[in-house]
Amino acid sequence: MLRIAALLLALFAPLAATAQDQALLDLGASALTAEGRDRGRPRPMELRLTLSEPVPYRVFLLDGPPRLVVDMKGFDFGEAQPQQLFGADLVPAIRWGRFQRGWSRLVAELPGPYAVTQSALSTKAMQPVLRVALKPVKQEEFRPRASAAAALRNLPEPVAPVVKPEALADDRLIVAIDPGHGGIDPGALADGHSEAEIVLTVALAARDALERIGIGVVLTRSDDSFMGLESRMTAARLAGADLFLSLHADALPEGEAAGATIYTWDETANDAAAQLLAQRHERDDLLAGMDLTGTDDALAGVLMDLARTETQPRSENFAKFLASRMALAGIEMHRRPVKGARFSVLKSPDIPSVLLELGFLTDPTDRQHLTDPVWRGRMVNALVAAINGWARDEGARAVLLRQ
Ligand SMILES: [Zn+2]
Repeated sequence: MLRIAALLLALFAPLAATAQDQALLDLGASALTAEGRDRGRPRPMELRLTLSEPVPYRVFLLDGPPRLVVDMKGFDFGEAQPQQLFGADLVPAIRWGRFQRGWSRLVAELPGPYAVTQSALSTKAMQPVLRVALKPVKQEEFRPRASAAAALRNLPEPVAPVVKPEALADDRLIVAIDPGHGGIDPGALADGHSEAEIVLTVALAARDALERIGIGVVLTRSDDSFMGLESRMTAARLAGADLFLSLHADALPEGEAAGATIYTWDETANDAAAQLLAQRHERDDLLAGMDLTGTDDALAGVLMDLARTETQPRSENFAKFLASRMALAGIEMHRRPVKGARFSVLKSPDIPSVLLELGFLTDPTDRQHLTDPVWRGRMVNALVAAINGWARDEGARAVLLRQ
């Protein structure tokens, strides 16, 4: 596992594609070739993809059946068909297409277990070339990447969930709505209102609205009781949630923040306001007697990183849907409505997660909105539209992948 992670990191070239233009494949200058004579046994192979621009990429192997996966960011296969790739008939099957937000994926089924002996993006020639060299190995030497998300689901749960989600047997979309704070932790307080009470009101209204259109909802708390941050994530995972949405309405020093703000996980975030909020949430949790330390071992850490590379673009995609639906609904937003933050509750590596500050209780205009049932109704409508739109978009991508 560690070796695969190291490989993955080493191969993740920090090259940025131009923002608007997608890099394209030069099909005529790309090929899959095999070494030596065909004696009916797997042979060393080389995949050569000629690109219009250098792009960040990652290469790894999967099992069941053995497959080579090449992901490229800011890249589009366009009209090129995998069957037209020179040498495509050397492998049982080859597919490609858009994967997730900005990433395209090539999957080549391999004629047996293989190892990646080399993979490099060369920019020396006129056009950048991505080369992946493969050699056949014995079954016991085959090192496919574990399905990170699946492995995570088998990890022992760190904390027993306080709220047992109802069994949802069908394959409806399930959204975990997480009203922040609660119980002994009221969150921000202003003018006789508490953050805990406001976000619960919005969460309950959102649940009703989502259930009306057939979306399953699990609430991490449905009354004024306390839930630790870990338990909130655990409840979402146990319910098989497809999306985790945490709702807050925090306090920040006057002038620091106003308007709805959407946060996604970013370990490197250094936004001052976001840091202040993250510290405060962590402290609230500690004050309530929860222990946040020591739940991840090294293996879990590696698995989380792997899984997050798949989940993070989906979280960001949802954040964009949410921002655009709130704008359409005329909800006042922060001048930078989507930000990264180190909020622990967004750390689930296998569930797309977003934290929405509905507004800031410390801001007089926000406070007026947050306590106004009409405004809250608009906010709930925007939430429902965003979840619905995102789910359709994700569904569309899944269909593309299966082709
Ligand atoms: Zn909060």
